[in-house]
Amino acid sequence: MSGRSSAGKDRLRGSSSCQVLSREELIEEVRRRIIEWEKRHWAPYPWRVKRSPYYILIAEVLLKRTTRQAVAREFHKFVQRYPDFYSIHNAPIGDIEKALRNLGLYRQRAKQLKELAKAIVEKYNGEVPDTWENLVSLPGIGPYTAGAVLSFGYGKKAPVLDSNVARLLTRLTGKQAKKLDDFLRLLWELVPDEGHDYFNYGLIDLGAVICHYRQPYCDKCPLSDICVYRLRSEGKEEEAKCLEVLYDSLEHRVT
Ligand code: SF4
Repeated sequence: MSGRSSAGKDRLRGSSSCQVLSREELIEEVRRRIIEWEKRHWAPYPWRVKRSPYYILIAEVLLKRTTRQAVAREFHKFVQRYPDFYSIHNAPIGDIEKALRNLGLYRQRAKQLKELAKAIVEKYNGEVPDTWENLVSLPGIGPYTAGAVLSFGYGKKAPVLDSNVARLLTRLTGKQAKKLDDFLRLLWELVPDEGHDYFNYGLIDLGAVICHYRQPYCDKCPLSDICVYRLRSEGKEEEAKCLEVLYDSLEHRVT
């Protein structure tokens, strides 16, 4: 923890955050708190421990509408049997379905993996592409998975935006986005160059576990005193409005 950041946190206690924070300090606070929280709560799922673009892409296909615990039980078996996209491309679809049967949705997943393997083998010689544009042009791959492959698989700075992250950002900033992608611009500002993987894992985990869709657990959240939703729920409308304006300005920051 840097001295400057600690001082920033101390200054926030008992005072209006937007009176004491500049935009740069707010960005630094959000980054630092999320990264520190994630380092304490990071869970060693197989695709997080041994990371490669291939593992991240396979994990994201398997994680659709399925719990992490269920995928963790099947992941090693699958990647041992199919260690790259060539092996998926060359396998009969019936074999892929069989390998995925324990996870459910096996027909859809096998079909998507075969389509992905075809595109990656034919266009990229079996290597998962390393640019945002090429990733989102792959069958069934959207901004969330593209960001995950870049940040976690390739170690490149990129935003990772799923519906849980979008809900957290809605509450944190007070911004009502019309569609998921509206938060991408804000996230490109917030994601740090260093530690972007912990930051992205932290946002995903906080969004899933703490800023829950049914009810946010603000008392356990490291962002509670710089959160528009939290301040409003405590009746601190003036501070909430002030912070809302500060978050809004992040999207239009000139660097
Ligand atoms: S303080 Fe509450 S509403 Fe705000 S981000 Fe954290 S959990 Fe979500």
